[in-house]
Amino acid sequence: MQQQPDAVKPPGTAFHFLSGHTVAYFSMEIALSPRMPTYSGGLGVLAGDTLRSAADMGVPIVAVTLLHRKGYFRQHLNASGEQTEEAVPWNPEAVLRPVEPVIAITVQNRPVMVRSWRFDVKGVSGHIVPVFLLDTDLEPNDPWDRRLTDHLYGGDTYYRLCQEAILGLGGARMLAALGHRPEVFHMNEGHASLLALGLLEEQLNGAPLLSAGPEEIEAVRNQCVFTTHTPVPAGHDKFGPDQMYQILGQEYGKALEHFGCLHEGLLNMTYIALRFSRYVNGVAMQHGKVSQQMFPDYSVKSITNGVHAPTWLSQSFHQLFDKQIPEWRYDNNYLRNAIGISASEIVACHRENKRLLLHSVAQRTGVQLRDDVLTLGFARRVATYKRANLLFLDPDRLVRIAHEAGGLQILYGGKAHPHDAAGKALIRNVFEAAARINSDAIHVVYLENYEWELGALLTNGVDVWVNTPRRPYEASGTSGMKAALNGVPSLSVLDGWWIEGCIENATGWALEDHNIEDHNEDASEGASLYDKLEKVVVPLYYRQPEQWARIMQLCIAINGSYFNTNRMLEQYVANAYFPEQHQRPRVQMPEPVLV
Ligand SMILES: *Cc1c(COP(=O)(O)O)cnc(C)c1O
Repeated sequence: MQQQPDAVKPPGTAFHFLSGHTVAYFSMEIALSPRMPTYSGGLGVLAGDTLRSAADMGVPIVAVTLLHRKGYFRQHLNASGEQTEEAVPWNPEAVLRPVEPVIAITVQNRPVMVRSWRFDVKGVSGHIVPVFLLDTDLEPNDPWDRRLTDHLYGGDTYYRLCQEAILGLGGARMLAALGHRPEVFHMNEGHASLLALGLLEEQLNGAPLLSAGPEEIEAVRNQCVFTTHTPVPAGHDKFGPDQMYQILGQEYGKALEHFGCLHEGLLNMTYIALRFSRYVNGVAMQHGKVSQQMFPDYSVKSITNGVHAPTWLSQSFHQLFDKQIPEWRYDNNYLRNAIGISASEIVACHRENKRLLLHSVAQRTGVQLRDDVLTLGFARRVATYKRANLLFLDPDRLVRIAHEAGGLQILYGGKAHPHDAAGKALIRNVFEAAARINSDAIHVVYLENYEWELGALLTNGVDVWVNTPRRPYEASGTSGMKAALNGVPSLSVLDGWWIEGCIENATGWALEDHNIEDHNEDASEGASLYDKLEKVVVPLYYRQPEQWARIMQLCIAINGSYFNTNRMLEQYVANAYFPEQHQRPRVQMPEPVLV
């Protein structure tokens, strides 16, 4: 971290008027430190960035997640791109403090003891956001139960529902045992939604869950806020009723049925969250609309994601902004003033970022890339909808573009979930395509084990960030925001955040929109990708460096100043957490329904 510049006095906690009004933030994954493998991708990074902004801004949040003692996984790729996975054991004892209370919840009809470890997120003005990581690896627990907080998204649906019981039910109970009395509970995705049952139990003071009426349900709803992250029904967590009864027991199972939390015969974590929340939102404008159509009985708003600027800005930009717009550290709106920074200084920062990236690529792979060649970046979780191989739809055309341009470099990164055979096949595809076309004109390099630090290097250091999701699957996407902060334009499908962030030829480029019902969308969007590269991006990069520099400046000023978690969190505080304190109307939700 940089020294705080003297010129700017910390304004103190901007949200001190909220003191005593705590928000509890529940998330299955949170990226807290590059040394803690407690996240898998965008959802965890968003959660971590949210908490880092809360600490910077003095928003009173406490967070709950699982410990994930064995982490997500380390990815190995052999020469043909076959992925193997390795657990990433880490040492919580070295980075976290154990805290006193041990609570018990009933899972699979037996008690499971849960303790927690504390991590402090420290903000720029000293405010601390405590994070409690739940852990079942305790002596009295059944040996199988002791492994329940080991693997993020590991195991089968049975393991997963046990984990979600620990997160939701255990988390609510843990916060109470720690003496926290949050006013608002924010479920970051449906994984934590069983916490609603925990809150309902508190309302009922020992009376059976099934005796809850509209008044008690309304009391729980008054406390809960839910953010959904998945724009397609298949993406929502679901469990069979047998598993529900087996793992959660008769009382919870019957209550979940009674409260309408089963959808098409399955326990649906999203429906629990919808039933018990007073505010529901998607993570970008478009995603809010798509979610509203998916859940027409509820009111679904949107708050567009962001990224934590100090975390994702390179060191060179930290220094430049500290010198030129020191206020940025306390108020990200000042990033707009990048418009007053000379473009040559921005270009110099980027040149340094690209040098660091290419140096790291050489160290990791032995491949020495050139710093005067247009370099594209494509890295994210390898989910099939993200279409990592769209760039290779027509390899001959890609090679031709590279030849005519005088060179093209493409950097890839991304892990496929261990059970995702189609995702793994995609990685092999990219390797095969790369082996076929790599030549003097074009270099494709797939970097192993995409995670936080590699993510920062890539989004900082490439020249163009490419994103090709199949619409409307990309709820938001955040890596393009990290790129924009560092002056790197995107070339992307108009989905997720890019609908709001793309100003053609100013902050980047959109692939041609086409009919979403078109079944040959890959062909037409692939062609559009090549067209944009060939006719717009390549000539601009090689022949109009001044205009390119202007685009870099606009990326920071227009998109960096907006797509950050400080702005995002302010929106959550005002619209979702504390609308009354901000003279905003509450969202009208339908009456609770009992079946
Ligand atoms: C930012 C980030 C993501 C998010 O990727 P998107 O494709 O933009 O959703 C995923 N993984 C890591 C390691 C990241 O840093």
